[in-house]
Amino acid sequence: MAAEIALVLGDHLTLENPALARIDRARDSVLMIEAPGEARHVWSHKARIALFLSAMRHFAATLREAGFRVHYLEVDDASLPASLPERLGHFLATHAPSRIWMCEAGERRLADALAAAAAARTTPLTSLADPHFLVSMEAFSRWAGDKSSLRMEFFYRHVRRETGVLMDGDAPVGGQWNFDADNRKGFGAKGPGLVPTPPRYPPDAITQAVFATVEREFGDHPGSLDSFGWPVTRAQALDALHRFVEERLAAFGPFQDAMWSNEPFLWHSLLSTSLNLKLLDPREVIDAAVRAWQERRLPLASVEGFVRQILGWREFIRGVYWHWPDLGRLNHFEHHRALPAWFWTGETSMNCLRDAIGQTLRHGYAHHIQRLMITGNFALLAELSPQAVCDWYLAVYVDAVEWVELPNTAGMALHACGPRFTSKPYIASGAYVKRMSNHCKGCRYDPGVRVGPGACPITLLYWAFVDKHAATLSANPRTVTMTSNLERLPVADRQSIRTAARDVLAAIDSL
Ligand code: FAD
Ligand code: SF4
Repeated sequence: MAAEIALVLGDHLTLENPALARIDRARDSVLMIEAPGEARHVWSHKARIALFLSAMRHFAATLREAGFRVHYLEVDDASLPASLPERLGHFLATHAPSRIWMCEAGERRLADALAAAAAARTTPLTSLADPHFLVSMEAFSRWAGDKSSLRMEFFYRHVRRETGVLMDGDAPVGGQWNFDADNRKGFGAKGPGLVPTPPRYPPDAITQAVFATVEREFGDHPGSLDSFGWPVTRAQALDALHRFVEERLAAFGPFQDAMWSNEPFLWHSLLSTSLNLKLLDPREVIDAAVRAWQERRLPLASVEGFVRQILGWREFIRGVYWHWPDLGRLNHFEHHRALPAWFWTGETSMNCLRDAIGQTLRHGYAHHIQRLMITGNFALLAELSPQAVCDWYLAVYVDAVEWVELPNTAGMALHACGPRFTSKPYIASGAYVKRMSNHCKGCRYDPGVRVGPGACPITLLYWAFVDKHAATLSANPRTVTMTSNLERLPVADRQSIRTAARDVLAAIDSL
């Protein structure tokens, strides 16, 4: 019988990958494909490319140690076609395996293209359900039913009940489902004080070889490799989890939403890359946090706040991505403006955006509130095209995989999917940035000024947005206060907001 293949994609780097259990180690092989087309599909940050390639090469070594035979196609092999599906087609033509097993892809585009490549060679391809997630797609669909809008909070409660995580019988431990109200603190004028340095993992020989390849093949891509220290093996990912729970989880909750200049990581876990590459299982991450509460009495607000991100948001977002196939095409507000060029350089005079984009280019990382309330808020208020913004987020973050990036960007940050899974557009003026960070101190703009000299572009565009969408915002109980504040303004002020916003947007590249 001809040999079979387990195709292991770059974000399925676990021995629990179900395709591995379907092949016979003595007869069959694993196929791993690096493809330059994947790095160029969006103009990927160098660190994002390096992370995937390095983690894949380390995992290939793990597979070989476990007794698997591995066919490994390297990104700079010029004898092969550029795209991943074409590389698969080429492999099928030259090796003629009798069938392909794979764990379901994390992106619709790739799932369809791989299926088409296999079909073109009449090689049967079986895509197996991904056991990494706690909620299967069938279970998500059962929960979602035919509802036209879905809310994370109800999903989260449902999953807490189903799994028993942080439950006391039928009730949530601590008597509350969430501790959001305790978890929205800013730092005040004194700042965050001493923040524990998160672990970074020095590049070994494999990673350094990857760096050389990335600089040679993708030297014109955005971002830098200078501070690369992401976990690229399961052992490093487990160490990162352990260090987070020991050193930063206790303060994670209260300062989850806070920002501070030149403090890119604060108390965040930096575990998204390890989870998304499947170096870590979400169950072990949740268990580690819950154990820290049970055994070391870490604050429940922090532990619950962290568990909610993984058990709630991450599972919900993944369910939403597969539930609604059209998310990438939606444009609720019909926004079409191109990205300003400074999104790729960070060279803007707005301190908040310079800080968030600058650290993104340096590290491939920004934490949730920077993504949602700094770059995302600006992109929504400036009426940038959701498709262009989604491509940018997919390109610049080391943890970006479409199933998680797209719903967060299009749905959460840009409200491009309307009310399907967010109850309101997440918009804020400069006052929010001032409250949650120190960015406004020393900025050439004043967050309290809407129009005229020193007016903060975020504040101006916020008011222009509320003015433009007043009818819908006033009909929504969650946004009605925004419009009641607007209604207090004299008509002439509203007119000058509209004119000034038009002028600012016309000169968006020079902000
Ligand atoms: P922490 O703040 O320590 O949170 C813990 C974990 O919870 C994260 O590692 C992550 O796995 C999970 N998590 C938290 N929030 C979310 C969320 N909204 N959706 C899914 N998982 C969540 N996350 C990605 O993994 N990849 C992306 O491409 C991505 N794009 C985003 C785009 C936008 C516009 C926004 C607003 C959010 C995006 N997120 C994305 C979610 C979130 O910002 C990141 O998961 C988080 O910042 C990663 O840093 P961390 O590991 O330090 O997270
Ligand atoms: Fe950002 Fe405005 Fe504050 Fe400057 S003043 S940091 S632009 S919110």
